[in-house]
Order: sequence, then C-alpha cells, then structure tokens
Amino acid sequence: MRLIFLGPPGAGKGTLAVTAVEILGVPQISTGAMFRAAASAGTPLGLKARAIMESGSLVDDETTIGLAKERLAQEDARAGYILDGFPRTIAQAEALAGFSAVDKVVNFELPDSVVLERLGGRRVCSSCGFNYHALFNKPKFDGSCDRCGGKVLIRDDDLPEAIQKRLEVYRSQTAPLIDFYRKAGLLVDIDASGPADEVVRNFRSALGL
Ligand code: ADP
Ligand code: AMP
Repeated sequence: MRLIFLGPPGAGKGTLAVTAVEILGVPQISTGAMFRAAASAGTPLGLKARAIMESGSLVDDETTIGLAKERLAQEDARAGYILDGFPRTIAQAEALAGFSAVDKVVNFELPDSVVLERLGGRRVCSSCGFNYHALFNKPKFDGSCDRCGGKVLIRDDDLPEAIQKRLEVYRSQTAPLIDFYRKAGLLVDIDASGPADEVVRNFRSALGL
C-alpha cells in the first residue's frame, strides 16, 4: 500500500508510522529524517538543509523532489511505502503524481493546542531518531534512548520561534494539499487528537485494516 501521512508538524505522523510500518510491512520514508541524516553526516545537502530546518522553513522543491524520487526508486519501496512529511507543497504533490501512484492520503486532524503540546514536549534520540515526549512518552532512563542508549535531546527545530514558523508554513503551503487530495478522492481523515493507541485504532478502522 502506498500511503501519504499529511498533517501539521507534531501531529504524530512519525509516531503512528512506527506501528503502521509493522502492520503493513512497507518502509516509512521521511524526508525530514533524510535531511537530518544528511546534516549529521555533514554533506553539502545536509549543511544547506540544516540552516533551513533550524529556521522552520521548507527546503526548496527541486532538492526535496529529487531526494524523494531517488528514495522511492529503491527496491524496498516497490511494494509500497508510508510517506511522512512529503509532499509538503502543491508543486511536490504534482511532481509525485508524475513518478508514483498513491493509494490513500491519511489526513491527521487535531486542534492547534494539542499540536503545540506535542511539539513543545517532543524529545528525539540523537542516534536512532526514535521519538519520545517529556510528558506522554518518556524514555525509561532519563535522557537515554530505550532502543539504542543514544542521547535523547530536543530537536533543533523544536524551539519556540521555529515552531511558530513551521506552523505558519504548514498553514500556507501544506494545508492546501488537503483539498488537492480530497478532490482526487484519496483523502482519509483520522482523529489524531487522542492517545497513541487510540490513533492506531482510528488509523486501522479508517483504512479497513
Ligand atoms: P510528527 O512526525 O507529525 O512531526 P511526532 O510523531 O514526532 O510528530 O510526534 C510529536 C510529539 O508528540 C512526539 O514527542 C511524540 O512522542 C508525541 N506524540 C505523538 N503522538 C502522540 C499521541 N497520540 N499522544 C500523545 N503524544 C503523542
Ligand atoms: P519533519 O521531520 O517532517 O518535521 O521535517 C523537518 C524539516 O525538514 C522541515 O521543517 C523542513 O525544513 C524539512 N523538510 C522535510 N520534508 C520536507 C519537504 N517535503 N519539503 C520541504 N522541506 C522539508
């Protein structure tokens, strides 16, 4: 199954993707995670992306589309995928339609107040990228990842000014994709405002899984 997860930053897309990957047996493809990996590796792409990410803006369409296209061409994405954080603009959605069909677009619905609470408390493993939350999902040992023992930190783009900017960018550039995919008959809305296990149940029932 080829799915897009669409929703504001902090909606819980990456968190649901961990379970959805197990249910569907397809890879999660996160352009944000790919940019962060490039930034850690210090590649030219990573250095460019790091400054953009920290400011809360979007990486340019040409670069992002190239990255996504290359990743979707890999063997493990043939049977399907979960696209998390791509497309984020109409231009990206139009480009995607030119190189891959999509079965459904899962639209995460939740109030802004919940988004802010989730982003404000998000913690991420600096080694494996696994997600935690300062209140809702703490690692067993403070500051240390349950999965790999890496350091659990606040993401550079989860600081207050960058959060505001990312939400503005979401509203102006990404939210128009809701109508775009609704008109295409691909959109499936899920209530993403509750606890993680409830979001998984909503996802399963929305997709008949
Ligand atoms: P996104 O990938 O959409 O940006 P994340 O999956 O990183 O969002 O989630 C943002 C934060 O909210 C993380 O700290 C995560 O642990 C937490 N979170 C995700 N889903 C839920 C949920 N259903 N209830 C409470 N906290 C959640
Ligand atoms: P995410 O992990 O999805 O929250 O993405 C982190 C950051 O990576 C975003 O704030 C953008 O700067 C950049 N990014 C990720 N995906 C895209 C995309 N599809 N288009 C442009 N920039 C992106």
